Order: sequence, then structure tokens, then C-alpha cells
Amino acid sequence: MCGVFGAYSKNDYVAEEVYLGLLALQHRGQESAGVAWIDSFGRVNAVKGMGLVYEALDQKVLSKTTVTAAIGHVRYSTAGGSMLQNAQPICANYAQGPVAIAHNGNLTNLDDLRTSLEARGAIFQSTSDTEAILHLVAHQTEKSPLEALLYALDQTRGAFSLVVLLEEGLVAARDPWGFRPLALGKRGDNYYVASESCAFSLIGATLVRDIEPGEVLLINEKGLTSFHLTTESGRGWLCSFEFVYFARPDSVIEGRSVYRARQEMGRRLAMGIGGEGCFSEMNASDADFVAYLPDSGTTAAIGYAEGSGLPFEAAVVRNRYVGRTFIQPTQRVRELGVRIKLSPSEAIFSGKSAILVDDSLVRGTTAGLVVAMIRECDARALHLRISSPPVRYPCYYGIDTPSRGELVAAQHSLEEIASSVGADSLYYLGKEGMIDAIGLPGNSLCTACFDGLYLDERDRESVCGFHNSQILRAENLT
Ligand code: AMP
Ligand code: SF4
Repeated sequence: MCGVFGAYSKNDYVAEEVYLGLLALQHRGQESAGVAWIDSFGRVNAVKGMGLVYEALDQKVLSKTTVTAAIGHVRYSTAGGSMLQNAQPICANYAQGPVAIAHNGNLTNLDDLRTSLEARGAIFQSTSDTEAILHLVAHQTEKSPLEALLYALDQTRGAFSLVVLLEEGLVAARDPWGFRPLALGKRGDNYYVASESCAFSLIGATLVRDIEPGEVLLINEKGLTSFHLTTESGRGWLCSFEFVYFARPDSVIEGRSVYRARQEMGRRLAMGIGGEGCFSEMNASDADFVAYLPDSGTTAAIGYAEGSGLPFEAAVVRNRYVGRTFIQPTQRVRELGVRIKLSPSEAIFSGKSAILVDDSLVRGTTAGLVVAMIRECDARALHLRISSPPVRYPCYYGIDTPSRGELVAAQHSLEEIASSVGADSLYYLGKEGMIDAIGLPGNSLCTACFDGLYLDERDRESVCGFHNSQILRAENLT
């Protein structure tokens, strides 16, 4: 998961606004940040650095950068190495002019693209799929940069939400399946493109609409011009996990408030209809209150409290000054990270039976450690509730979920999970409940990490090691 932001103005200097937009998208990536623009000599320039936006980039320098179009990127990765060379936007000055690309998503046909590009003489500097898009553009020297970009994007499969700078203007592009969100915003005559609409409020812009799946939108002095990729998408594949966890709750995606979707997930979870669970020792009827795992479980816990009629207690305190634990590279560091980050309040838990709500279990580390800490507070009982279905399959569309071997729900039964995290009962929201809570048609959403229904059979075969087709081809589903 990464965040992209682009800004275009006829008169205003926008580099600092890109910086601010990236600050609002910081939750989508904390590994590196970068901003790129085309200078008055027609050359592409970029500043990039490791770490959080304020560490990686210098706001003062950007505020003095006199450019009217710029793009930016925050990177999140647990694969491909945490190094400056992998920071985006990636930039080149090729035969037809300058190009800078910031990418959120993962292409699934990278190997095929690389093989054919290398056969034509391309020399790759990295393993990044964004570089493949750049090579595809640079190889089309007979086309204008925009035509070359349209051609390049037509060759790809998988997920991309892009902001691109060309001499023709700022370009926003979303893959035909619409995996990752991408939104258009406006303030006066200025246009902005962001992974999430929450980035617009910070700069006083408002959400105009989502960039459509398969749309390539050119923004320049002539206004907005839309092009459409020719690839057939059949159905939509917007990532349902954006609503579960990734997106900020104040964002609106495809007209749906992420906050409301999460709250509804919690409410439906409390109703216990159609989910999966195990009640190894006792059920939750004795519960005194609902607590949440901050911040990821907060909104769903609010919905759960509403749905169950139980009081809501902010009984687990979060240290705001440490980042997301999931992205720490080793299990040991991740465990320590959870202890540093989260602290249950003994005064609230002692002698009580609590429902603990979180958005998802991936490896099960966070929940296991927090449950153990709550046990140390002498809680009478602890019931774990997860506001999404069990994550049993990895993601290949831009989220670095672990391999199946590390996914707790892929390896263990629900009883084993409940006992390994130390909960008295465990219950997950069902897939239908999640889809209903999101409020978009099921065939417009990707749910592959929950049900293994990937865009291509090949994604599942190559990445999951499955070779017999026990699961229907996703495209055949209605
Ligand atoms: P784990 O300890 O591996 O079970 O991590 C679960 C927690 O990580 C969840 O409570 C989410 O808040 C968060 N999470 C879930 N999926 C991801 C992801 N792909 N990247 C980062 N964090 C995640
Ligand atoms: Fe989102 Fe899961 Fe699909 Fe990946 S596999 S795009 S995380 S729903």
C-alpha cells in the first residue's frame, strides 16, 4: 500500500501542497516519501528521502519551489528492500521528454513485461513494476508521451493508481479493475489527485469524484480530458480491505464513507449473523463492555457497542508517538512494537468481562499480545471480535500481506486461533456482512485475501502454490 498525490494549477505554486497532501496520506506508507516536478528547462526533478514525510522532505524548500504541477508518493513496503532507490516518484528524461510516475498497486504481469522489455534492450535498475511502466513508455519513441503512457497502461494487468507528470500535464490513471482508490479534488481552478479524499481537506480542496476504473485523466491548461483503457474489466475489483483497515476513516471511496462502513461492520459483527467463530469456553453474554484495539479497531468497536447495546470503553491506550507495528521487519521487533504501542488499563479491565474488537487478524501477533496484556490486568473473560472475515490468502494487488505460511487463519482452525491468542471466544464478521456494510455491490469489490478469488487464476497459482482449480475463476462469478 502506498499513497500518491498530484496537484495542477494555472497560477499557484503547488509543491508545498503536495507535501501537505502526502502528510495526510502518511498512513498509506511510512518507508519513504518523494515529490517530483518538471522544471522550466523541461527536465524532471525530484526530492526523495527515507522515513516519514516530515523526515524525508523539507517543507521550506518545497514552499519555495516555483512549479505549478507536481506529484508525490509515500511508500509502504515489507518486500523489495527499504532503500532510497525504491523511493518514488520514479523519473526519467527520455527521447520524448520528461516523465515522473508515482504508483500505488502491484502489476501481476511484471515477469512477462520484463521479459519482453529486456528482449528489446531495456536495462532494469530495480525490481519495481513502476519501472516497467516507465520502460514501456520510453520504448514508444514514435508516440507522444501521453500516447505512449496509454499504450503502456494497456499492456499491464493488476493494480495501479497512478499520478504521472508529462510535458502535456498532470495525468491520473486507474487500472480497469479499480483495485486501489484514486480521487479527484478541486479548489478554485486548481485540481488535485489523491489516493484518498482525506488529503483534500488539509489543503482546503473538495472531493469532485473518483477517477473511474480504466480512466486516464489528463489535467492541463485546457482543463480535464478523459481517456479510457481498452482492457475489458468485466466486473469491479475495488479492494474491500481499504474499507476494513487501510483507508483513513474520514475518506470517502466510491461515495461510501469509510467511517460509516467500518461502523456498520461492527454493528453487523455484534449481530453475529453469517460470520465464523468459535466459543471455546464461554460466550459473550456475560460481557460488561466493548473495548477496541486502537486505532484500527476503533470505528468498528463503536458500531459493535451500538449493535450490542453494551457500553464502549477506551480501555486500551495507544502511545501516539510510535508508528504502525505491522511494518516492522522481524517478528521479535513487531512483538516489542506492540507492547510499546498499546497498553490496557488495569483499572478498567480488572474483574470484568470484555469484548475486544479489532479490524483484522493477519499473523495474530497484535491480538495475541494485547490479550495476554489484558489477562495480566485480571480480566474475568475476554472475547475477541474481528470486523472482517479471516484473512486466508495473500494479496498481490499492492498490499504486502505475508505468505500463506504466516497467515494465522490459513494455517489454523478457529479453535486453534482462539486458544493461541488466549481469547475465551473468537468471532469474525462474514464476507457477506462485510460487503453489506461497505454498501457496494459484491461484484464491484475484491475479496481475494478472504476467499482466494483472484483476478486471474494465474495470480493464485503462481503465488499461492495451488495448482488444481478448487475455486471458481473469479471472472465467472456474478
Ligand atoms: P497481526 O499482528 O499480524 O495479526 O496484524 C494485525 C493488525 O495489523 C490488524 O489489527 C490491522 O490493524 C493491521 N493490518 C492488517 N493488515 C495489514 C497490512 N496488510 N499492512 C499493515 N497492517 C495491517
Ligand atoms: Fe484488497 Fe485483499 Fe484484494 Fe488485496 S486481496 S486488493 S488486500 S481485498
